[in-house]
Amino acid sequence: MGGTASTQAWDEQADVVVVGYGYAGAIAALEARKAGADTLLIEKMPDPGGISITSGGNIRTVNDAEEGFQYLRATCSGTTPDGVLRALAGGMRQMRSYFETLCAVSGATVDYRQADGNYPLPGSKTYGYVSVKHVPGFKPAETYPFVSSYVPIERAAGVRLFKVIEDNIRASTLRVMLSTPARRLITGAADTSGAPREIRGVEAERDGRRVNIKARRAVILACGGFEASPELQMQYWQEKPVLNAAYMGNTGDGIRMAQDVGAALWHMWHYHGVYGFRHPDPAYPFGIRPKRLPDWIPGEAARPDVKVPWIIVDRRGRRFMNEYQPYTQDTTWRSMAVFDGPTMSYLRIPSYMIMDEAGRGTYPIVSPTFNDRRFKFAWSEATLRELEAKILHRADSIAELATLMKVDEAVLQETIAAWNGACDLGDDRVHKRPPTSMVKIAAPPFYFAEVWPVCSNTHGGPVHDADQRVLDPFGQPIARLFAAGELGGVFGHLYISGGNLAECFVGGWTAGRNAAKLAPWQAKAPAAVHA
Ligand SMILES: Cc1cc2nc3c(=O)[nH]c(=O)nc-3n(C[C@H](O)[C@H](O)[C@H](O)COP(=O)(O)OP(=O)(O)OC[C@H]3O[C@@H](n4cnc5c(N)ncnc54)[C@H](O)[C@@H]3O)c2cc1C
Repeated sequence: MGGTASTQAWDEQADVVVVGYGYAGAIAALEARKAGADTLLIEKMPDPGGISITSGGNIRTVNDAEEGFQYLRATCSGTTPDGVLRALAGGMRQMRSYFETLCAVSGATVDYRQADGNYPLPGSKTYGYVSVKHVPGFKPAETYPFVSSYVPIERAAGVRLFKVIEDNIRASTLRVMLSTPARRLITGAADTSGAPREIRGVEAERDGRRVNIKARRAVILACGGFEASPELQMQYWQEKPVLNAAYMGNTGDGIRMAQDVGAALWHMWHYHGVYGFRHPDPAYPFGIRPKRLPDWIPGEAARPDVKVPWIIVDRRGRRFMNEYQPYTQDTTWRSMAVFDGPTMSYLRIPSYMIMDEAGRGTYPIVSPTFNDRRFKFAWSEATLRELEAKILHRADSIAELATLMKVDEAVLQETIAAWNGACDLGDDRVHKRPPTSMVKIAAPPFYFAEVWPVCSNTHGGPVHDADQRVLDPFGQPIARLFAAGELGGVFGHLYISGGNLAECFVGGWTAGRNAAKLAPWQAKAPAAVHA
Protein backbone atom coordinates (compact mmCIF):
# COMPACT_ATOMS: atom_id res chain seq x y z
CA MET A 1 0.00 0.00 0.00
CA GLY A 2 1.21 3.50 -0.90
CA GLY A 3 1.42 6.83 0.87
CA THR A 4 4.74 8.17 2.09
CA ALA A 5 5.78 7.11 5.59
CA SER A 6 6.52 9.95 7.99
CA THR A 7 10.07 10.28 9.19
CA GLN A 8 11.16 13.18 7.07
CA ALA A 9 11.60 16.72 8.32
CA TRP A 10 8.45 18.80 8.22
CA ASP A 11 8.46 22.09 6.30
CA GLU A 12 5.06 23.25 7.56
CA GLN A 13 2.61 22.07 10.14
CA ALA A 14 -0.95 22.54 11.28
CA ASP A 15 -3.51 20.62 13.29
CA VAL A 16 -5.75 20.21 10.25
CA VAL A 17 -4.64 20.45 6.64
CA VAL A 18 -7.41 20.99 4.10
CA VAL A 19 -6.67 20.31 0.43
CA GLY A 20 -8.68 22.39 -2.09
CA TYR A 21 -10.16 25.86 -1.83
CA GLY A 22 -13.64 25.54 -3.31
CA TYR A 23 -16.72 25.79 -1.12
CA ALA A 24 -16.19 22.38 0.51
CA GLY A 25 -12.57 23.04 1.49
CA ALA A 26 -13.37 26.56 2.66
CA ILE A 27 -16.25 25.45 4.90
CA ALA A 28 -14.22 22.53 6.27
CA ALA A 29 -11.31 24.86 7.06
CA LEU A 30 -13.52 27.52 8.63
CA GLU A 31 -15.19 24.97 10.88
CA ALA A 32 -11.93 23.30 11.89
CA ARG A 33 -10.54 26.72 12.79
CA LYS A 34 -13.70 27.66 14.70
CA ALA A 35 -13.35 24.45 16.68
CA GLY A 36 -9.90 25.61 17.78
CA ALA A 37 -7.64 23.75 15.36
CA ASP A 38 -4.67 25.50 13.80
CA THR A 39 -5.76 25.07 10.18
CA LEU A 40 -3.97 25.32 6.85
CA LEU A 41 -5.88 25.41 3.55
CA ILE A 42 -3.82 24.58 0.48
CA GLU A 43 -4.92 25.15 -3.12
CA LYS A 44 -3.27 23.95 -6.29
CA MET A 45 -4.24 26.83 -8.57
CA PRO A 46 -3.13 30.48 -8.35
CA ASP A 47 -6.75 31.57 -7.85
CA PRO A 48 -9.15 29.96 -5.41
CA GLY A 49 -12.75 29.06 -6.15
CA GLY A 50 -12.58 25.80 -8.09
CA ILE A 51 -15.79 24.91 -9.84
CA SER A 52 -17.63 26.41 -6.89
CA ILE A 53 -17.17 30.00 -8.01
CA THR A 54 -18.73 29.26 -11.43
CA SER A 55 -21.80 27.67 -9.90
CA GLY A 56 -25.35 28.93 -9.70
CA GLY A 57 -24.83 29.35 -5.95
CA ASN A 58 -28.08 27.55 -5.15
CA ILE A 59 -27.92 25.35 -2.07
CA ARG A 60 -30.60 22.87 -1.11
CA THR A 61 -32.45 23.16 2.18
CA VAL A 62 -35.23 21.04 3.65
CA ASN A 63 -38.06 21.88 6.03
CA ASP A 64 -38.21 18.35 7.35
CA ALA A 65 -35.10 16.20 7.67
CA GLU A 66 -36.97 12.87 7.54
CA GLU A 67 -38.80 13.81 4.32
CA GLY A 68 -35.56 15.13 2.88
CA PHE A 69 -33.93 11.80 3.68
CA GLN A 70 -36.77 9.86 2.01
CA TYR A 71 -36.24 11.81 -1.19
CA LEU A 72 -32.46 11.34 -1.16
CA ARG A 73 -32.95 7.66 -0.46
CA ALA A 74 -35.29 7.28 -3.45
CA THR A 75 -32.98 9.17 -5.79
CA CYS A 76 -29.82 7.39 -4.67
CA SER A 77 -31.55 4.05 -5.21
CA GLY A 78 -29.41 1.91 -2.93
CA THR A 79 -26.05 3.38 -3.94
CA THR A 80 -25.44 5.25 -0.66
CA PRO A 81 -26.04 4.05 2.92
CA ASP A 82 -28.99 5.53 4.82
CA GLY A 83 -26.75 6.96 7.56
CA VAL A 84 -24.83 9.08 5.07
CA LEU A 85 -28.03 10.37 3.46
CA ARG A 86 -29.63 11.08 6.86
CA ALA A 87 -26.59 13.16 7.80
CA LEU A 88 -26.92 15.19 4.60
CA ALA A 89 -30.66 15.72 5.03
CA GLY A 90 -30.14 16.70 8.68
CA GLY A 91 -27.53 19.23 7.57
CA MET A 92 -29.88 20.66 4.95
CA ARG A 93 -32.37 21.27 7.76
CA GLN A 94 -29.77 23.47 9.48
CA MET A 95 -28.62 25.14 6.28
CA ARG A 96 -30.64 28.35 6.47
CA SER A 97 -29.44 29.39 9.89
CA TYR A 98 -25.84 28.36 9.11
CA PHE A 99 -25.98 30.32 5.88
CA GLU A 100 -27.38 33.43 7.51
CA THR A 101 -24.53 33.44 10.04
CA LEU A 102 -21.99 33.09 7.23
CA CYS A 103 -23.58 35.92 5.22
CA ALA A 104 -23.68 38.23 8.24
CA VAL A 105 -19.88 38.57 8.05
CA SER A 106 -20.24 40.32 4.66
CA GLY A 107 -23.47 42.12 5.56
CA ALA A 108 -24.99 40.06 2.70
CA THR A 109 -28.70 39.38 2.34
CA VAL A 110 -30.07 35.89 1.85
CA ASP A 111 -32.65 34.62 -0.60
CA TYR A 112 -34.78 31.62 0.32
CA ARG A 113 -37.34 29.97 -1.92
CA GLN A 114 -39.37 26.82 -1.75
CA ALA A 115 -38.59 24.54 -4.73
CA ASP A 116 -39.57 20.89 -4.99
CA GLY A 117 -36.97 18.21 -5.66
CA ASN A 118 -36.53 17.58 -9.38
CA TYR A 119 -38.49 14.32 -9.45
CA PRO A 120 -41.99 13.52 -8.10
CA LEU A 121 -40.74 11.17 -5.39
CA PRO A 122 -41.60 10.95 -1.68
CA GLY A 123 -40.21 13.93 0.22
CA SER A 124 -39.84 16.17 -2.82
CA LYS A 125 -42.09 18.92 -1.40
CA THR A 126 -39.92 19.61 1.60
CA TYR A 127 -37.12 21.13 -0.45
CA GLY A 128 -36.05 24.73 -1.01
CA TYR A 129 -32.98 26.71 -2.01
CA VAL A 130 -30.93 29.27 -0.19
CA SER A 131 -28.55 31.64 -1.98
CA VAL A 132 -26.83 35.01 -1.51
CA LYS A 133 -29.07 37.83 -2.70
CA HIS A 134 -26.84 40.88 -2.34
CA VAL A 135 -23.39 41.71 -1.01
CA PRO A 136 -23.05 45.44 -0.31
CA GLY A 137 -20.26 47.16 -2.23
CA PHE A 138 -19.26 43.98 -4.09
CA LYS A 139 -18.17 44.47 -7.73
CA PRO A 140 -17.99 40.94 -9.15
CA ALA A 141 -16.22 41.73 -12.44
CA GLU A 142 -13.48 43.63 -10.61
CA THR A 143 -13.03 41.12 -7.82
CA TYR A 144 -13.16 37.99 -9.99
CA PRO A 145 -12.00 38.97 -13.50
CA PHE A 146 -11.00 35.34 -14.12
CA VAL A 147 -14.58 34.03 -13.88
CA SER A 148 -17.19 33.80 -16.61
CA SER A 149 -20.50 32.70 -15.21
CA TYR A 150 -23.41 31.27 -17.15
CA VAL A 151 -25.33 34.45 -16.51
CA PRO A 152 -23.76 37.94 -16.58
CA ILE A 153 -21.43 38.02 -13.61
CA GLU A 154 -23.37 40.84 -11.91
CA ARG A 155 -26.30 38.41 -11.64
CA ALA A 156 -24.29 35.35 -10.62
CA ALA A 157 -25.12 34.06 -7.16
CA GLY A 158 -22.12 31.67 -7.25
CA VAL A 159 -19.60 34.53 -7.23
CA ARG A 160 -21.57 36.34 -4.52
CA LEU A 161 -21.36 33.22 -2.40
CA PHE A 162 -17.63 32.94 -3.01
CA LYS A 163 -17.20 36.58 -1.93
CA VAL A 164 -19.01 35.75 1.33
CA ILE A 165 -16.79 32.69 1.78
CA GLU A 166 -13.62 34.72 1.18
CA ASP A 167 -14.78 37.38 3.65
CA ASN A 168 -15.22 34.65 6.24
CA ILE A 169 -11.82 33.17 5.50
CA ARG A 170 -10.17 36.61 5.84
CA ALA A 171 -12.01 37.24 9.10
CA SER A 172 -10.70 33.96 10.50
CA THR A 173 -7.12 33.22 11.42
CA LEU A 174 -6.69 30.17 9.29
CA ARG A 175 -3.79 30.11 6.85
CA VAL A 176 -4.13 29.79 3.07
CA MET A 177 -1.47 28.77 0.55
CA LEU A 178 -2.31 29.14 -3.14
CA SER A 179 -0.31 27.53 -5.98
CA THR A 180 0.44 24.62 -3.66
CA PRO A 181 -0.72 21.31 -5.17
CA ALA A 182 -0.91 18.31 -2.86
CA ARG A 183 0.87 15.34 -4.45
CA ARG A 184 0.68 12.44 -1.96
CA LEU A 185 -0.55 11.71 1.52
CA ILE A 186 2.04 10.95 4.17
CA THR A 187 1.23 8.03 6.45
CA GLY A 188 2.51 6.50 9.66
CA ALA A 189 4.26 3.17 9.54
CA ALA A 190 2.23 0.00 8.94
CA ASP A 191 1.37 -2.07 12.04
CA THR A 192 0.65 -5.76 12.18
CA SER A 193 -3.15 -5.47 12.45
CA GLY A 194 -3.66 -5.01 8.70
CA ALA A 195 -5.56 -1.76 9.36
CA PRO A 196 -4.97 1.09 6.93
CA ARG A 197 -2.05 3.29 7.93
CA GLU A 198 -2.79 6.51 9.79
CA ILE A 199 -2.51 9.78 7.85
CA ARG A 200 0.22 12.07 9.15
CA GLY A 201 0.39 14.84 6.58
CA VAL A 202 0.59 15.89 2.96
CA GLU A 203 3.43 16.02 0.51
CA ALA A 204 2.86 19.13 -1.61
CA GLU A 205 4.73 21.30 -4.07
CA ARG A 206 5.48 24.98 -3.73
CA ASP A 207 7.60 27.11 -6.07
CA GLY A 208 8.82 23.93 -7.72
CA ARG A 209 10.00 22.44 -4.41
CA ARG A 210 8.61 19.55 -2.41
CA VAL A 211 7.14 20.59 0.95
CA ASN A 212 6.11 18.16 3.65
CA ILE A 213 3.18 19.44 5.64
CA LYS A 214 2.51 17.78 8.96
CA ALA A 215 -1.15 17.39 9.92
CA ARG A 216 -1.18 16.87 13.68
CA ARG A 217 -4.86 15.93 13.78
CA ALA A 218 -6.09 15.17 10.26
CA VAL A 219 -6.14 15.83 6.53
CA ILE A 220 -9.36 16.76 4.74
CA LEU A 221 -9.42 16.15 1.01
CA ALA A 222 -11.78 18.64 -0.65
CA CYS A 223 -10.03 18.81 -3.98
CA GLY A 224 -12.94 18.19 -6.32
CA GLY A 225 -13.53 15.53 -8.92
CA PHE A 226 -12.05 14.54 -12.29
CA GLU A 227 -13.74 16.83 -14.79
CA ALA A 228 -10.31 17.64 -16.23
CA SER A 229 -8.88 14.11 -16.26
CA PRO A 230 -9.45 12.39 -19.61
CA GLU A 231 -7.40 9.45 -18.27
CA LEU A 232 -9.77 8.71 -15.37
CA GLN A 233 -12.82 9.35 -17.57
CA MET A 234 -11.47 6.88 -20.11
CA GLN A 235 -11.31 4.17 -17.45
CA TYR A 236 -14.59 4.84 -15.65
CA TRP A 237 -16.99 6.13 -18.32
CA GLN A 238 -18.15 4.09 -21.25
CA GLU A 239 -19.29 7.11 -23.31
CA LYS A 240 -16.59 9.26 -24.85
CA PRO A 241 -15.52 11.89 -25.39
CA VAL A 242 -17.18 13.97 -22.67
CA LEU A 243 -16.39 17.69 -22.55
CA ASN A 244 -15.44 19.48 -19.33
CA ALA A 245 -17.76 22.41 -18.60
CA ALA A 246 -15.89 24.87 -16.45
CA TYR A 247 -12.64 24.13 -14.66
CA MET A 248 -9.18 22.71 -15.38
CA GLY A 249 -7.94 22.31 -11.78
CA ASN A 250 -9.87 19.17 -10.92
CA THR A 251 -7.80 16.33 -12.32
CA GLY A 252 -8.76 13.63 -9.84
CA ASP A 253 -5.73 14.19 -7.57
CA GLY A 254 -7.78 13.49 -4.44
CA ILE A 255 -8.95 10.21 -5.92
CA ARG A 256 -5.40 9.04 -6.60
CA MET A 257 -4.14 10.20 -3.18
CA ALA A 258 -7.00 8.43 -1.41
CA GLN A 259 -6.56 5.24 -3.46
CA ASP A 260 -2.87 5.28 -2.65
CA VAL A 261 -3.64 4.94 1.07
CA GLY A 262 -6.28 2.27 0.58
CA ALA A 263 -9.60 4.09 0.04
CA ALA A 264 -12.54 2.43 -1.67
CA LEU A 265 -14.22 4.38 -4.48
CA TRP A 266 -17.88 4.92 -5.28
CA HIS A 267 -20.14 6.64 -7.84
CA MET A 268 -17.30 6.95 -10.35
CA TRP A 269 -19.63 6.56 -13.34
CA HIS A 270 -21.98 9.37 -12.31
CA TYR A 271 -21.75 13.02 -13.20
CA HIS A 272 -23.90 16.12 -13.34
CA GLY A 273 -24.08 17.12 -16.98
CA VAL A 274 -25.99 17.95 -20.11
CA TYR A 275 -25.55 18.04 -23.88
CA GLY A 276 -23.50 20.98 -25.13
CA PHE A 277 -21.12 22.42 -27.67
CA ARG A 278 -17.43 22.43 -28.52
CA HIS A 279 -15.93 25.90 -28.82
CA PRO A 280 -14.89 26.71 -32.41
CA ASP A 281 -11.39 27.56 -31.13
CA PRO A 282 -9.66 24.22 -30.38
CA ALA A 283 -7.44 25.97 -27.81
CA TYR A 284 -10.46 26.68 -25.64
CA PRO A 285 -10.70 23.63 -23.38
CA PHE A 286 -14.26 23.87 -22.11
CA GLY A 287 -17.48 22.43 -23.43
CA ILE A 288 -20.26 25.01 -23.57
CA ARG A 289 -23.53 24.27 -21.88
CA PRO A 290 -26.65 25.43 -23.72
CA LYS A 291 -28.50 28.31 -22.15
CA ARG A 292 -29.85 27.16 -18.86
CA LEU A 293 -33.20 25.42 -19.15
CA PRO A 294 -35.35 26.03 -16.10
CA ASP A 295 -36.35 22.74 -14.61
CA TRP A 296 -39.85 21.40 -14.63
CA ILE A 297 -41.48 18.77 -12.51
CA PRO A 298 -43.27 15.85 -14.17
CA GLY A 299 -46.86 15.67 -13.09
CA GLU A 300 -47.04 19.43 -12.84
CA ALA A 301 -47.47 21.92 -15.64
CA ALA A 302 -44.31 22.47 -17.68
CA ARG A 303 -43.03 26.03 -17.48
CA PRO A 304 -45.06 27.72 -20.24
CA ASP A 305 -42.51 30.47 -20.69
CA VAL A 306 -39.76 28.07 -21.69
CA LYS A 307 -39.46 27.40 -25.39
CA VAL A 308 -36.82 24.92 -26.44
CA PRO A 309 -36.48 25.69 -30.13
CA TRP A 310 -34.46 22.62 -31.09
CA ILE A 311 -34.53 18.89 -31.45
CA ILE A 312 -31.59 16.54 -31.10
CA VAL A 313 -30.96 13.72 -33.54
CA ASP A 314 -28.37 10.96 -33.69
CA ARG A 315 -25.80 10.47 -36.41
CA ARG A 316 -28.43 8.75 -38.54
CA GLY A 317 -30.82 11.69 -38.27
CA ARG A 318 -33.29 10.22 -35.75
CA ARG A 319 -34.53 11.73 -32.51
CA PHE A 320 -33.75 9.60 -29.46
CA MET A 321 -34.58 11.67 -26.38
CA ASN A 322 -36.75 14.27 -24.76
CA GLU A 323 -34.56 17.35 -25.17
CA TYR A 324 -36.17 19.10 -22.20
CA GLN A 325 -36.16 16.53 -19.42
CA PRO A 326 -37.43 16.95 -15.86
CA TYR A 327 -33.87 17.83 -14.90
CA THR A 328 -32.03 18.34 -18.16
CA GLN A 329 -28.71 18.91 -16.34
CA ASP A 330 -29.01 15.52 -14.69
CA THR A 331 -30.10 12.93 -17.20
CA THR A 332 -29.73 14.10 -20.81
CA TRP A 333 -26.12 12.95 -21.13
CA ARG A 334 -27.29 9.47 -20.12
CA SER A 335 -29.48 9.29 -23.22
CA MET A 336 -26.33 9.82 -25.31
CA ALA A 337 -24.21 7.17 -23.61
CA VAL A 338 -25.11 4.30 -25.93
CA PHE A 339 -22.59 2.21 -27.82
CA ASP A 340 -23.72 0.70 -31.12
CA GLY A 341 -22.26 -2.79 -31.49
CA PRO A 342 -22.69 -3.32 -35.23
CA THR A 343 -20.96 -0.05 -36.15
CA MET A 344 -18.59 -0.17 -33.15
CA SER A 345 -19.30 3.50 -32.52
CA TYR A 346 -21.29 5.95 -30.47
CA LEU A 347 -24.12 6.95 -32.77
CA ARG A 348 -25.10 9.75 -30.37
CA ILE A 349 -21.68 11.31 -29.77
CA PRO A 350 -21.68 13.84 -31.17
CA SER A 351 -25.38 14.23 -31.88
CA TYR A 352 -26.89 17.08 -33.87
CA MET A 353 -29.00 19.92 -32.52
CA ILE A 354 -31.36 21.24 -35.21
CA MET A 355 -33.42 24.42 -35.34
CA ASP A 356 -34.73 26.90 -37.86
CA GLU A 357 -34.26 30.64 -38.26
CA ALA A 358 -37.14 31.56 -35.94
CA GLY A 359 -35.82 29.14 -33.32
CA ARG A 360 -32.33 30.59 -33.57
CA GLY A 361 -33.76 34.03 -32.86
CA THR A 362 -35.47 32.96 -29.61
CA TYR A 363 -32.42 33.53 -27.39
CA PRO A 364 -28.65 32.99 -27.68
CA ILE A 365 -28.26 29.28 -27.04
CA VAL A 366 -24.70 29.31 -25.69
CA SER A 367 -23.70 30.01 -22.12
CA PRO A 368 -19.91 29.89 -21.54
CA THR A 369 -18.78 29.33 -17.98
CA PHE A 370 -15.30 28.97 -16.48
CA ASN A 371 -12.86 29.85 -13.73
CA ASP A 372 -9.54 30.35 -15.52
CA ARG A 373 -7.31 33.39 -16.00
CA ARG A 374 -6.11 32.17 -19.39
CA PHE A 375 -9.46 32.84 -21.06
CA LYS A 376 -11.55 35.95 -21.45
CA PHE A 377 -15.20 36.29 -22.22
CA ALA A 378 -17.12 39.56 -22.49
CA TRP A 379 -20.64 38.65 -21.49
CA SER A 380 -23.19 40.35 -23.77
CA GLU A 381 -25.99 39.29 -26.13
CA ALA A 382 -23.80 40.37 -29.08
CA THR A 383 -20.81 38.24 -28.04
CA LEU A 384 -23.06 35.29 -27.37
CA ARG A 385 -24.62 35.63 -30.83
CA GLU A 386 -21.16 35.84 -32.37
CA LEU A 387 -20.08 32.66 -30.64
CA GLU A 388 -23.35 30.97 -31.51
CA ALA A 389 -22.86 31.87 -35.19
CA LYS A 390 -19.56 29.97 -35.19
CA ILE A 391 -21.11 26.91 -33.56
CA LEU A 392 -24.22 26.67 -35.74
CA HIS A 393 -23.94 25.58 -39.38
CA ARG A 394 -26.48 27.03 -41.80
CA ALA A 395 -28.38 25.32 -44.61
CA ASP A 396 -31.03 26.71 -46.93
CA SER A 397 -33.02 23.49 -47.21
CA ILE A 398 -33.44 20.22 -45.36
CA ALA A 399 -31.68 18.52 -48.26
CA GLU A 400 -28.64 20.73 -47.72
CA LEU A 401 -28.87 20.18 -43.96
CA ALA A 402 -28.77 16.41 -44.54
CA THR A 403 -25.75 16.76 -46.82
CA LEU A 404 -23.83 18.89 -44.31
CA MET A 405 -24.71 16.55 -41.45
CA LYS A 406 -23.88 13.50 -43.60
CA VAL A 407 -27.20 11.81 -42.85
CA ASP A 408 -29.73 10.21 -45.16
CA GLU A 409 -31.99 12.97 -46.48
CA ALA A 410 -35.15 10.82 -46.41
CA VAL A 411 -34.57 9.97 -42.74
CA LEU A 412 -34.04 13.61 -41.83
CA GLN A 413 -37.11 14.72 -43.80
CA GLU A 414 -39.14 12.09 -41.95
CA THR A 415 -37.76 13.12 -38.54
CA ILE A 416 -38.51 16.80 -39.07
CA ALA A 417 -41.97 16.12 -40.54
CA ALA A 418 -42.81 13.90 -37.55
CA TRP A 419 -41.60 16.59 -35.15
CA ASN A 420 -43.64 19.31 -36.86
CA GLY A 421 -46.69 17.02 -36.79
CA ALA A 422 -46.19 16.46 -33.06
CA CYS A 423 -45.95 20.24 -32.55
CA ASP A 424 -49.27 20.69 -34.40
CA LEU A 425 -50.88 18.07 -32.16
CA GLY A 426 -49.15 19.40 -29.03
CA ASP A 427 -48.18 15.80 -28.30
CA ASP A 428 -44.68 14.31 -28.58
CA ARG A 429 -45.93 10.72 -28.44
CA VAL A 430 -42.54 9.07 -28.56
CA HIS A 431 -40.33 11.11 -26.24
CA LYS A 432 -42.87 13.17 -24.27
CA ARG A 433 -41.46 16.65 -24.54
CA PRO A 434 -43.59 19.09 -22.49
CA PRO A 435 -46.01 20.49 -25.12
CA THR A 436 -45.40 24.13 -24.21
CA SER A 437 -41.68 23.73 -24.92
CA MET A 438 -42.23 22.41 -28.46
CA VAL A 439 -41.33 24.64 -31.42
CA LYS A 440 -41.68 23.66 -35.08
CA ILE A 441 -38.68 23.51 -37.38
CA ALA A 442 -40.48 25.00 -40.33
CA ALA A 443 -38.89 27.85 -42.24
CA PRO A 444 -35.39 28.07 -43.73
CA PRO A 445 -32.62 28.76 -43.21
CA PHE A 446 -32.05 25.74 -40.98
CA TYR A 447 -29.17 25.26 -38.54
CA PHE A 448 -27.37 22.39 -36.93
CA ALA A 449 -24.68 22.12 -34.28
CA GLU A 450 -22.77 19.11 -33.06
CA VAL A 451 -23.47 18.38 -29.38
CA TRP A 452 -21.48 16.24 -26.94
CA PRO A 453 -22.06 15.16 -23.35
CA VAL A 454 -20.74 18.01 -21.18
CA CYS A 455 -19.77 17.26 -17.59
CA SER A 456 -20.43 20.06 -15.11
CA ASN A 457 -18.99 18.11 -12.21
CA THR A 458 -18.31 14.52 -11.22
CA HIS A 459 -19.68 12.65 -8.20
CA GLY A 460 -17.21 9.81 -7.88
CA GLY A 461 -14.37 9.51 -5.40
CA PRO A 462 -13.44 7.97 -2.05
CA VAL A 463 -16.23 6.37 -0.03
CA HIS A 464 -17.02 8.22 3.18
CA ASP A 465 -19.25 7.56 6.17
CA ALA A 466 -21.73 9.91 7.88
CA ASP A 467 -18.80 11.55 9.71
CA GLN A 468 -17.03 12.17 6.36
CA ARG A 469 -14.28 9.69 7.30
CA VAL A 470 -12.74 8.00 4.26
CA LEU A 471 -13.27 4.23 4.26
CA ASP A 472 -11.25 1.36 2.87
CA PRO A 473 -12.88 -1.44 0.81
CA PHE A 474 -13.76 -3.33 4.04
CA GLY A 475 -15.59 -0.34 5.52
CA GLN A 476 -12.79 0.57 7.95
CA PRO A 477 -12.00 4.26 8.36
CA ILE A 478 -8.54 5.36 7.29
CA ALA A 479 -7.47 7.12 10.46
CA ARG A 480 -7.26 10.92 10.23
CA LEU A 481 -8.49 11.14 6.63
CA PHE A 482 -11.71 12.94 5.69
CA ALA A 483 -13.30 13.90 2.37
CA ALA A 484 -15.80 16.63 1.53
CA GLY A 485 -17.64 18.12 -1.45
CA GLU A 486 -17.86 16.52 -4.85
CA LEU A 487 -14.80 14.35 -4.14
CA GLY A 488 -16.76 11.19 -3.41
CA GLY A 489 -20.20 12.83 -3.51
CA VAL A 490 -23.22 10.93 -2.24
CA PHE A 491 -25.15 10.98 -5.52
CA GLY A 492 -25.00 7.56 -7.11
CA HIS A 493 -28.12 7.40 -9.25
CA LEU A 494 -30.10 10.64 -9.71
CA TYR A 495 -28.89 14.08 -8.72
CA ILE A 496 -30.87 16.85 -7.01
CA SER A 497 -30.19 20.39 -8.24
CA GLY A 498 -28.43 22.33 -5.48
CA GLY A 499 -27.33 19.03 -3.94
CA ASN A 500 -23.62 19.43 -4.69
CA LEU A 501 -23.38 22.69 -2.79
CA ALA A 502 -25.47 21.27 0.04
CA GLU A 503 -22.92 18.50 0.41
CA CYS A 504 -20.01 20.96 0.15
CA PHE A 505 -21.47 22.71 3.18
CA VAL A 506 -22.75 19.78 5.23
CA GLY A 507 -19.80 17.52 4.39
CA GLY A 508 -17.42 20.44 4.86
CA TRP A 509 -18.63 21.43 8.30
CA THR A 510 -18.87 17.79 9.41
CA ALA A 511 -15.32 17.00 8.28
CA GLY A 512 -13.92 20.23 9.75
CA ARG A 513 -15.49 19.72 13.18
CA ASN A 514 -14.62 16.01 13.37
CA ALA A 515 -11.04 16.59 12.25
CA ALA A 516 -10.56 19.31 14.87
CA LYS A 517 -11.85 17.00 17.63
CA LEU A 518 -9.12 14.39 17.19
CA ALA A 519 -6.20 14.27 19.62
CA PRO A 520 -2.85 14.96 17.91
CA TRP A 521 -0.91 11.87 16.89
CA GLN A 522 2.35 11.11 18.67
CA ALA A 523 5.53 10.33 16.77
CA LYS A 524 6.81 6.84 17.60
CA ALA A 525 10.10 5.30 16.57
CA PRO A 526 11.22 6.37 13.10
CA ALA A 527 9.81 4.33 10.24
CA ALA A 528 11.36 3.74 6.86
CA VAL A 529 10.76 6.38 4.23
CA HIS A 530 9.28 4.98 1.06
CA ALA A 531 6.97 6.02 -1.69
C1 LIG B 1 -21.80 25.93 -14.30
C2 LIG B 1 -22.06 25.15 -13.05
C3 LIG B 1 -23.11 25.51 -12.21
C4 LIG B 1 -23.35 24.80 -11.03
N1 LIG B 1 -24.34 25.24 -10.21
C5 LIG B 1 -24.59 24.56 -9.06
C6 LIG B 1 -25.58 25.02 -8.15
O1 LIG B 1 -26.20 26.08 -8.33
N2 LIG B 1 -25.81 24.27 -7.03
C7 LIG B 1 -25.12 23.11 -6.77
O2 LIG B 1 -25.36 22.49 -5.76
N3 LIG B 1 -24.12 22.70 -7.59
C8 LIG B 1 -23.84 23.40 -8.71
N4 LIG B 1 -22.82 22.99 -9.53
C9 LIG B 1 -21.90 21.94 -9.04
C10 LIG B 1 -21.00 22.55 -7.94
O3 LIG B 1 -20.57 23.83 -8.34
C11 LIG B 1 -19.77 21.70 -7.63
O4 LIG B 1 -20.09 20.35 -7.49
C12 LIG B 1 -19.14 22.19 -6.31
O5 LIG B 1 -18.92 23.58 -6.38
C13 LIG B 1 -17.84 21.45 -6.02
O6 LIG B 1 -17.25 22.06 -4.90
P1 LIG B 1 -15.93 21.44 -4.28
O7 LIG B 1 -15.49 22.39 -3.24
O8 LIG B 1 -16.14 20.04 -3.94
O9 LIG B 1 -14.92 21.46 -5.52
P2 LIG B 1 -14.21 22.76 -6.26
O10 LIG B 1 -15.04 23.95 -6.04
O11 LIG B 1 -13.93 22.35 -7.62
O12 LIG B 1 -12.91 22.90 -5.39
C14 LIG B 1 -11.88 21.95 -5.44
C15 LIG B 1 -10.57 22.71 -5.36
O13 LIG B 1 -9.51 21.77 -5.16
C16 LIG B 1 -8.38 22.21 -5.91
N5 LIG B 1 -7.47 21.09 -6.12
C17 LIG B 1 -7.57 20.07 -6.99
N6 LIG B 1 -6.51 19.25 -6.87
C18 LIG B 1 -5.72 19.77 -5.90
C19 LIG B 1 -4.47 19.39 -5.34
N7 LIG B 1 -3.79 18.31 -5.77
N8 LIG B 1 -3.93 20.14 -4.35
C20 LIG B 1 -4.58 21.27 -3.91
N9 LIG B 1 -5.76 21.69 -4.43
C21 LIG B 1 -6.33 20.93 -5.40
C22 LIG B 1 -9.00 22.74 -7.17
O14 LIG B 1 -8.09 23.57 -7.87
C23 LIG B 1 -10.23 23.47 -6.64
O15 LIG B 1 -9.96 24.81 -6.34
C24 LIG B 1 -22.55 23.68 -10.71
C25 LIG B 1 -21.51 23.30 -11.55
C26 LIG B 1 -21.25 24.03 -12.71
C27 LIG B 1 -20.10 23.65 -13.59
